[in-house]
Amino acid sequence: MVRIARDARANAYAPYSNYSVGACVRTDDGRLYAGCNVENASFGMTICAERTAVVKAVSEGARRFTAIAVAAEGAMPYPCGACRQVLSEFADGGMIVWITDGDAIERTELGALLPYNFIINHQ
Ligand SMILES: [Zn+2]
Repeated sequence: MVRIARDARANAYAPYSNYSVGACVRTDDGRLYAGCNVENASFGMTICAERTAVVKAVSEGARRFTAIAVAAEGAMPYPCGACRQVLSEFADGGMIVWITDGDAIERTELGALLPYNFIINHQ
């Protein structure tokens, strides 16, 4: 997953920040989906690599993820608050989070990054 996330950086569209990020999510049935950040001149429209990967997977029918890897160079790419909330929507049962910056790799869990996610009980 880390290798796929690193490879996904090659497709990042980051002309404003020059901070290319790649991500790879794993579904509960073992499928892997990669994503990259896609920036926009209207900065608020920028989409992070994590959400790109999640949206790709959900659009293919995935509904639960067990892990995500996020890769960048220059700073550890901890998921932003928006991505933590989006990941939590599909992390029922927990999600391992791998963060890598060059050779450094850190393992954490979504519950540690976002202990009090917003949820609505839906049937
Ligand atoms: Zn984000």
